[in-house]
Amino acid sequence: MKTLKTVADLTTRLLEIQRINSSASLLSWDQETYMPAGGGEARAEQISTLQGIAHQKLVSPEIEGLLASWIDPETGEIRDSPGEAWDEPSRSLLREVWRDYSRAKKLPSDFVIKLSRECSLAQQVWAEAKENQSFSQFLPNLRTVLSLKREEAAYLGYRDSPYDALLDEYEPGSTIKELRPLFAQIKGRLVPLLKKIQESSVQIDDTMLFHTFDQARQLEFGRMVLIAMGYDFERGRLDLSAHPFTTSFHPTDVRVTTRVHEHDLQACLFSCIHEGGHGLYDQGLDPRYFGTPLGDSVSLGIHESQSRMWENCVGRSRPFWRFFYPMLQQTFHHQLRALDGEQFYAAINRVKPSLIRVEADELTYNLHIMLRFEIEQDLIEGRTRPEDLPGIWNQKMEEYLGIVPSNDAEGVLQDVHWSFGAFGYFPTYTLGNLYSVQFYEQAKLEIPHLEDEIAAGQLMVLQRWLGQKIHRWGRMFTPDHLSRRVTGKSLDPEPFLTYVEKKYGELYRLETK
Ligand code: ZN
Repeated sequence: MKTLKTVADLTTRLLEIQRINSSASLLSWDQETYMPAGGGEARAEQISTLQGIAHQKLVSPEIEGLLASWIDPETGEIRDSPGEAWDEPSRSLLREVWRDYSRAKKLPSDFVIKLSRECSLAQQVWAEAKENQSFSQFLPNLRTVLSLKREEAAYLGYRDSPYDALLDEYEPGSTIKELRPLFAQIKGRLVPLLKKIQESSVQIDDTMLFHTFDQARQLEFGRMVLIAMGYDFERGRLDLSAHPFTTSFHPTDVRVTTRVHEHDLQACLFSCIHEGGHGLYDQGLDPRYFGTPLGDSVSLGIHESQSRMWENCVGRSRPFWRFFYPMLQQTFHHQLRALDGEQFYAAINRVKPSLIRVEADELTYNLHIMLRFEIEQDLIEGRTRPEDLPGIWNQKMEEYLGIVPSNDAEGVLQDVHWSFGAFGYFPTYTLGNLYSVQFYEQAKLEIPHLEDEIAAGQLMVLQRWLGQKIHRWGRMFTPDHLSRRVTGKSLDPEPFLTYVEKKYGELYRLETK
């Protein structure tokens, strides 16, 4: 049997590349948290230099030579010599390394460096443009990034749409052809549900959540919840950034960030829980496989399923707050004393179309994604010109959510993604929402009394289950294979749709036909 030992020369080289990538990630983390504003340009050069080196090493003749001895370079098929087959981990490892290698091989190194530098710069210009509410300030950089991404798609190759080539980076195997009907199905159920909610006589009052809340106490509460979830502060940190995110340099150093708004209790709380879900995944990867695909997360959709499960299925549920609300009430006694647990539960689940995606409720959130999904396809396929974006954005907001931003900062400039070239990233958020409920329903079936455990503050039973079923496997299985392994089914929107219809039907007392 051929095992990982057989490919030791390869994994040693991959480890070296991973260390370079981890160093680049650390520089990015610093850029988002502590770097002085003046350091931006030099930082962009540092990161792009490292990414260029990592890329060169991955497409090096040494790695090519090693892979060629095990894989047919024409078909990508892994060769089994007679009487000596590969074991499953090695087979998965080779399949995934080949995927990374052949994608990287298609991109010239100078292109990779240029793309990295331009994206890093554009990200900084975007931040200023957003501050100034000025789309035109960002437009030249957006044009550059967009044209580089179209160039990238051309290098990578595709069957139907250049967008597929980009999507594949974040969600391996996903295509527009698959996503369009899936998204149409979700939209077909969510839009009527939203309409019924808006017509409901039930009015949820959430004004209590927008009083003044001491920032240090908010942060302390977020930290306490993270610890209860099983996030390990010996192997992690919590810092502040404009946009909450999670980054990992190794399973022993996984960092999450949050933001604190003095007049919005939910911003810090739910971003801590959300990023904590991401953090648990990265801390739960098998350190023995670090540097190889088996020590890496499987896709962004699956990653997001972890954060959304904790944020929504757990963090916006009654059982969770049965345990944590008395503590929250004690922490903010003055602001919350008049609000009982049930009113609090309703308030954090209030459905209201809003301008900002990251602040959207779990129902309208997906409509924000559909809008971005449609716009970015049109941009990449060349049907939309970048200068027309603000108008198109506002028109779609009106159509999907019935509201229009009053400036570009709360409109087309709100998300960082396009500035760093992440076209094809947004759909993974909705995939994450769908997977999150599909996995959570399975967890409820398999963990005895899961919701009673949660109501007793015992969150780690879920963390352990996720660790065993999902985290530890890295990229051993493809996203679809993993889904079938965990739940017996490929991605299925039905659990999510049933969940929201039931939850919000009850909350807003909607008639069941
Ligand atoms: Zn996330």
